[in-house]
Amino acid sequence: MEWFFLPWTFVPRAPSWYESQWNRYEPPGAAEKWLIEIIYETVAAETRCTRCGAPLEPPRLRADAWPVRVAARCRGTARHRHRANVSRAPDGLHTEPLARA
Ligand SMILES: [Zn+2]
Repeated sequence: MEWFFLPWTFVPRAPSWYESQWNRYEPPGAAEKWLIEIIYETVAAETRCTRCGAPLEPPRLRADAWPVRVAARCRGTARHRHRANVSRAPDGLHTEPLARA
């Protein structure tokens, strides 16, 4: 009689309330954008270009959706680009170091 119950095992499980709230599309809020901006302004001020050693300019954010994209150029003549992504996870924001693109 095991075959009788087989179709029931393929019924998709309904997501929990927490999962449905978490997976709902929600762009970054003003507080999250502000926090990311402060973090990466500090990071950019402390970071040198990995190619030419010049300091980085203040970063710009593209924060219309997750992951938030951060971009900064170096102040050298070549203006090398550096990028990082910030994603949202259940335990908070996950940041990446500014790396040369
Ligand atoms: Zn550079």
